Amino acid sequence: MPFLNCKILSTILMLTLILGVLYCYIFQSYRVVVSFEKTEETPVGSSSGKSLVRGHDFNLVAPNHLQYKQPSIIHGRTDVVTVTPWLAPVVWEGTFNPVLLDSIYKQKNISIAVTVFAVGKYIMFLKNFLETAEQHFFVGFKVHVYVFTDRPKEVPEVKMAAGRKLIVSSVPSSNRWQEISARRMELIQILIEEKLQNYTDYIFCLDVDSKFHGRWGTESLGRLVAVIHPGYYRDDRSKFPYERRPASRAYVAPGEGDFYYCGGAFGGLLQEVHMLAKTCRSNFEADAREGIEAAWQEESHLNSYMWVNKPSKVLSPEYLWQDFKARNPEVHIIRFSGVVKNYAEIRPNV
Ligand code: UDP
Ligand code: MN
Repeated sequence: MPFLNCKILSTILMLTLILGVLYCYIFQSYRVVVSFEKTEETPVGSSSGKSLVRGHDFNLVAPNHLQYKQPSIIHGRTDVVTVTPWLAPVVWEGTFNPVLLDSIYKQKNISIAVTVFAVGKYIMFLKNFLETAEQHFFVGFKVHVYVFTDRPKEVPEVKMAAGRKLIVSSVPSSNRWQEISARRMELIQILIEEKLQNYTDYIFCLDVDSKFHGRWGTESLGRLVAVIHPGYYRDDRSKFPYERRPASRAYVAPGEGDFYYCGGAFGGLLQEVHMLAKTCRSNFEADAREGIEAAWQEESHLNSYMWVNKPSKVLSPEYLWQDFKARNPEVHIIRFSGVVKNYAEIRPNV
């Protein structure tokens, strides 16, 4: 009898042990899954992962039976780098299939907001900007262009296709172009908070003194999108015009920085651009309280932000060239470029 009891007891003990091990195993793997999902849904530096939950950036579902050119895994652009060290694509002509991408994003019924500032004499650039956007920017998609100006009566009449519209907001004039340029982050932040939440998926913030020459479309969509500045992309990082005074919140130390990005074009999912604008604005204002203005205003703050918060998609200088600059051989197409302007004539101060 004692012998039998002992046997039963040890069997019970063994079973408990096995069950315990099994429980731990299942519980642990469950925890791994949960924490993985959490990282995916909450982007670094973002207050909420709302837009990501909507999944626009992740589920790339192509329509069934779509026919397109076979992609190659061994042949492609070799004259340029098409991926960053953190594995974000760098978009150059020849790296994407526009037909495929458009059909993927058409099914998602996405909407895109654009912000453009035309304060003071910069209103003169708006007509060309808007007309060329109609020809090249997300053609066939829902696009809402938000114009900020102190001269609402001078906003040109531009015929826009179905699903596209212009929304004009009045902003105060300013005697300093630096202030106009820098206040953009604040107004973008407020626009997103007050008007765009729940209505827009992506937003692009663009300079008005520019025009479109070629396609800018769904290939540019991503969580956080930055454009490589055409003026510095062949240079060593020591030559990048980052803010170099440690006292500024836009400071980038020697030996740091990936690329030099444009302040004249950036974008991404609404929540991501909101975080970017909010951060740049508060850093800019904190600097101002201490009497510091970064070398290139919001462009400097954008560059220090992107150094930490890596963009998930990088657009090549095809996406913001400069008209005065001769085209380099690796640039097969210019999609958007800054027009030549006489600074003394159009800016309120020098
Ligand atoms: N801006 C404006 N009025 C001004 C100065 C600037 O509306 O008097 C806006 C405009 O959208 C412009 C942007 O701020 O495209 C950036 O300024 P700018 O284009 O002069 O800078 P750059 O591209 O020459 O560095
Ligand atoms: Mn500009």
